[in-house]
Amino acid sequence: MQKRERVILYSDLNNFFASVEIALDPSLAGKPLIVCGDPKERHGIVLAKNEEAKRYGIKTAETVYSALRKCPDLQMVKEHFHEYRRYSKKVVEIYGRYTDCIEECSIDECALDMTESTALFGSGVEIAEKLRSSVKEELGLTVSVGVSFNKVFAKLASELKKPDAVTEITRENYREKVWRLPVSELLFVGKSTAETLHKIGVRTIGELANADEELLIRLLGKRGRQLRIYARGEDDAPVKGVKEKEDLKSIGNSTTLPKDITDREEIKRWFYALSESVAARQRKADVGRASTVHIVVRNEKLQDTTCQKKVSPTSLCGDIAKAAYELYCEHFPFGTRVRMLGVTVSGFDYHIQQMSLDNLLSDGIAYEKKERAENAVAKLREKYGYTALQRGVVLEDGRVNGLDIRGKKEETFSKQENTKDEE
Ligand SMILES: [Mg+2]
Repeated sequence: MQKRERVILYSDLNNFFASVEIALDPSLAGKPLIVCGDPKERHGIVLAKNEEAKRYGIKTAETVYSALRKCPDLQMVKEHFHEYRRYSKKVVEIYGRYTDCIEECSIDECALDMTESTALFGSGVEIAEKLRSSVKEELGLTVSVGVSFNKVFAKLASELKKPDAVTEITRENYREKVWRLPVSELLFVGKSTAETLHKIGVRTIGELANADEELLIRLLGKRGRQLRIYARGEDDAPVKGVKEKEDLKSIGNSTTLPKDITDREEIKRWFYALSESVAARQRKADVGRASTVHIVVRNEKLQDTTCQKKVSPTSLCGDIAKAAYELYCEHFPFGTRVRMLGVTVSGFDYHIQQMSLDNLLSDGIAYEKKERAENAVAKLREKYGYTALQRGVVLEDGRVNGLDIRGKKEETFSKQENTKDEE
């Protein structure tokens, strides 16, 4: 019995961040625009740009300073990650009218399985056109939609024509449409993989599809086989229906101290120890960066006090601990007897930032990331001295401020709470 051909759509919102900014403030339309961390900070980097800014040769990840040199009249806006997330949800709601099988690949990209929907709503291309026009009319955003019989080709199709377009790759036309493209256009073929393939004379996706399987495996391992499968249009990965990631709203960690503590240096160290595990779990949960740090402090009368502050989005222990300690110093007088301490982060951006950075694959960004890490370390050294830099080993060697907590790890670090988004 012949298997039914799947109908997969892949949607990619065009210039997403910049488009949301324009949807929010239409007076920005029609003129070159960039979205950046802080418009006043000339060393800040361009996170996103609109079509008009692209025409000036402005690239994502370059510095604001260099962008301004290319276009002195450039409009600059600060990023609004919560708005991007809100818009992203609205877009997914529109897709949800046509299928339940939606895989959110990133904030602005989704894979959609429409196989079952065609009976009700028409062909893949017809549904794609409906999505495209609804997103445009209802939200003022444009989207490029690829239609194909598997995810890899659907994604590729979405990239072939931008913005505001629908492109189909079929069993009949993929050799003609896909195989002539450079191999680097294929999903998961990065710069170094492409270079490796070039060495054996594989420059196009078609050449990859027809390359010797054994040779590819020798060259790239299992991945070599997988890439060949993709190139041949044989990818059969399903669209992962329900969003599998946990929708976490906050991540926290608290500990009852072995004895009441008044010394601020000691309290600082506990904040580092707690923040270390909060940051690690935050990164593991893959929720992006947090914009709010909360602390809870229990005194010797068992009264709990909580306070919070906004921070620039972070997933770094150093930033979290620093904010926690600052909060403490702002709200608690010297001599406060502390029995329990907790640190919680919330307001995740769900990697909007990370995603925009990952898309770049540029050395500039790698540098920017490293620089940020370096700066964090330098600042810590400046502010807290050498001990702060040992935070990484605080838990590993089981000692915090001379106290062996190894045996008590379960107990002291057991109160780890994740709260889920209620929406
Ligand atoms: Mg996009």
